[in-house]
Amino acid sequence: MTDCIFCKIAAHELNAQVVYEDEDFMAFRDINPEAPVHVLLIPKQHLSSLLEVGVEQADLAARLLMTAAGIARELGVAEDGFRVVINTNDNGGQTVHHLHLHLLGGRFMNWPPG
Ligand code: AMP
Repeated sequence: MTDCIFCKIAAHELNAQVVYEDEDFMAFRDINPEAPVHVLLIPKQHLSSLLEVGVEQADLAARLLMTAAGIARELGVAEDGFRVVINTNDNGGQTVHHLHLHLLGGRFMNWPPG
């Protein structure tokens, strides 16, 4: 989508601190980090939210999770532990309407979240 900031990052039209990229995914540092490691992992394909993940995206969704785990290992937070979050719509706190997975690590994560 032309007015989507994450599509622009995926297309290299907007700068981001990219930590991972392949044909289908990009991961970059959150501009407002909530933890020492706070990375956003997005599919390059524009899907507005998790609600747009259907059977056709099953492979993409599986690889999204595997890629997140790989990035956690690469960034050195896998062993101590980390959290992945997909905020969805208003009550979920979603502010950018391009599917993204938050990968948070480097500190203890409280539960329940706020
Ligand atoms: P959410 O609230 O789950 O939709 O998360 C959106 C996240 O995107 C927030 O944590 C923002 O800090 C982050 N964000 C917004 N714009 C940018 C940007 N240009 N580069 C990196 N992170 C961004």
